Amino acid sequence: MSGATSRCIFCQIAQNSTSTTLLHHDDKVVAFQDIRPAAFRHYLIIPVEHIPTTKDLQRRDEDYSLVNHMLDVGKTLLHRDAPQSKQYRFGFHQPPFNSVDHLHLHCLALPFTPRWKHIKYLPLGPIGFVEAESLLEKIKPSQPVMS
Ligand SMILES: [Zn+2]
Ligand SMILES: [Zn+2]
Repeated sequence: MSGATSRCIFCQIAQNSTSTTLLHHDDKVVAFQDIRPAAFRHYLIIPVEHIPTTKDLQRRDEDYSLVNHMLDVGKTLLHRDAPQSKQYRFGFHQPPFNSVDHLHLHCLALPFTPRWKHIKYLPLGPIGFVEAESLLEKIKPSQPVMS
């Protein structure tokens, strides 16, 4: 590992070299609980590969299927662990309001705990919390040409 990624706490979690309990892991992503949960259930899904922020994602198959997979894993975990929840939120903080420079999908099963925590997850245009679905729309590759 290079110096930059060996100091990244999320890379260390992805390598399973911390005491953090992994809720899910496969060759692309890992999932674990947010250390400061803001809702009844609050999980983070991160790519195993070190991708700093949403700004590093591009309109291409590779990135689209990665984010799509992160969202799938998040939904599966929340539906399993918080089936009674009436609202789920899935999204990303955008720089400079992201806490760690390693892409992470926040997966929340509401209600927020405490209630004021919701202010951190408001969509504030280009700098706010971006819903996973909107991000997917933005990086969706154009239709492949049929041959
Ligand atoms: Zn990292
Ligand atoms: Zn975050």
